[in-house]
Amino acid sequence: MSHALRSGPRAGLRLMHVHAHPDDESSKGAATTARYVDEGVDVHVVTCTGGERGSILNPKMDRPDVLENISEIRRQEMERARDILGVRQDWLGFVDSGWPEGDPKPPLPEGCFALVPVEEAAEPLVRLIREFRPHVVTTYDENGGYPHPDHIMCHKVAVAAFEAAGDPARYPGAGAPWQPLKLYYHHSFNRPRMQALHDAMLAHGLESPWEERLKDWKPDPEWDDRITTRVPCGDYFGVRDQALLAHATQIDPDGHWFAIPRELQEKIWPTEDYELVVSHVPSQTPEDDLFAGVPDHA
Ligand SMILES: [Zn+2]
Repeated sequence: MSHALRSGPRAGLRLMHVHAHPDDESSKGAATTARYVDEGVDVHVVTCTGGERGSILNPKMDRPDVLENISEIRRQEMERARDILGVRQDWLGFVDSGWPEGDPKPPLPEGCFALVPVEEAAEPLVRLIREFRPHVVTTYDENGGYPHPDHIMCHKVAVAAFEAAGDPARYPGAGAPWQPLKLYYHHSFNRPRMQALHDAMLAHGLESPWEERLKDWKPDPEWDDRITTRVPCGDYFGVRDQALLAHATQIDPDGHWFAIPRELQEKIWPTEDYELVVSHVPSQTPEDDLFAGVPDHA
């Protein structure tokens, strides 16, 4: 696909998502991505690691031949998801840190992403920001969205690169300075959304996949108040689902991702939700658009 020929009402705008692993771009903000791509926005996914240490989460793919070739298979899955979403995608080239299991947790494997100094890990991202020149950048909150060491590292690296990319004194060898205008954190896995979908399932006499999860997840209105921006994208949940399914080793088609009928999701919670963290343009929250305040053809 040619990115130079993007057309649509919002052609000229550029959005960059910084994610930890292949599949994160499809499980977080994918419907937002599909909507903006449809409107002509150029969307660039940056994937920090190759996902080499991810477990196989789809029983149908848990086979020795898949496990042996997991790096190559995850790369191919990412290419399929990229094409379904209509984005460009780059790897930062770091090695997956893995999910530390055990009590106490074992030390992280040598050379993994989470152990690279932030200053060093941010350099290739600064380079990509200066090349692609996004108006808006998204990543995870300071807890990583969930506490995988690569997600927390991804947050640190994305925030550092967002701050450094516009400063000519930083990373002088990494291209001409470019300051993205807005930085967002993903907040789509919020409790009120889960509760609303859970209630809707029960009201329709369906079994909810979230019973246990909600019991352990105490309400935290202060946290929920951090959401500033809800992007309507229900029409693109189908594209999101196709992109998720492209990650066949990570996504079980019979698992919780697809337990809630799409029509119900579109009706009950047709947005993906974000927190505006930095804005260099005047913008008033709450908003319903990641580009609110960004001049067209900026
Ligand atoms: Zn991940």
